Amino acid sequence: MIGQTFELQGKKIWVCGDRGMVGSALVRRLATERCEIITAPRSALDLLDAEAVDKFVQKASPDLILLAAAKVGGILANNSFPADFFQQNLDIQNNVIKSAFKNKVSKLVFLGSSCIYPKLAPQPIREDALLTGPLEPTNEWYAIAKIAGIRQCEAYRRQFKCDFISCMPTNLYGPNDNFDLETSHVLAALIAKAHKVKSQRLDSLEVWGTGTPLREFMHVDDCADAIVFLAKNYSDALHINVGSGEEVSIADLARLVCEVVGISDRLRFDSSKPDGSPRKLMDSTRLSSMGWSPRISLNDGLRAFYDWYASCR
Ligand code: GDP
Repeated sequence: MIGQTFELQGKKIWVCGDRGMVGSALVRRLATERCEIITAPRSALDLLDAEAVDKFVQKASPDLILLAAAKVGGILANNSFPADFFQQNLDIQNNVIKSAFKNKVSKLVFLGSSCIYPKLAPQPIREDALLTGPLEPTNEWYAIAKIAGIRQCEAYRRQFKCDFISCMPTNLYGPNDNFDLETSHVLAALIAKAHKVKSQRLDSLEVWGTGTPLREFMHVDDCADAIVFLAKNYSDALHINVGSGEEVSIADLARLVCEVVGISDRLRFDSSKPDGSPRKLMDSTRLSSMGWSPRISLNDGLRAFYDWYASCR
């Protein structure tokens, strides 16, 4: 159902995962809505502890939960720690979704990612491609946990009429991204590596894989805006793709990063690292037909991202 407005003014909103890249962007975005934002530092609330989560939700009594907490990581981390990505994501989402139901939270937004879709899904990938084929093996365990979360929201909606919705953002980047090269996603890694090339006057930029995979990128501030838009305006069982439509090969992305950082675009490909999915461009027609579209181009977003990164050094 579209157009069923969930008013945010005067509401208590728990941004679950507020220290992460998406959660912190949601906190920034919600500052302009006249709502009360609830956050819980990791030291005060362990999301893997079902009882603690339940007590927290009971006491805080939010009207809306934006479930942005997750165990996330790039291609290498996902591939190396399958049990962590599988179990921690299942536990976090299970604890939060169950407690939202138990404590009669009016609305919940669950977040997944474009890796939930089959590796060879027809491109651009529509929402109905879910569960139509085998997954990309490098992030299969994370994907299966996220698919379970989508279905969990759908099951509670169907059986108990809970207003739980799901949205699937594309590859994101922005402030508070993870820059640890072992666990980060590609854009944060390339920014950190390019900055090092510049500051240490190295002669080339290392790029994992062949550089041929295609990826779609969105600035996290656009993503937060889309999530708030969906929280306000969308209420239905189908998960919604949140993409920018801006697709680029990893090699071209690396060249763009070189330009933004101000280094020569001499690239060195490390073919011992995996490429992952050949392409994962999402079809975000459903979201755009509801009246939302992104505002930050890859070029502008990358410049802002690098400025932010450099200002933190
Ligand atoms: P994915 O979208 O799940 O595959 O996750 P990533 O963002 O980690 O990787 C996207 C693509 O970028 C893959 O083809 C990687 O091989 C490639 N890539 C190139 N250089 C890097 C790097 O330094 N770090 C990461 N994480 N990926 C890189």
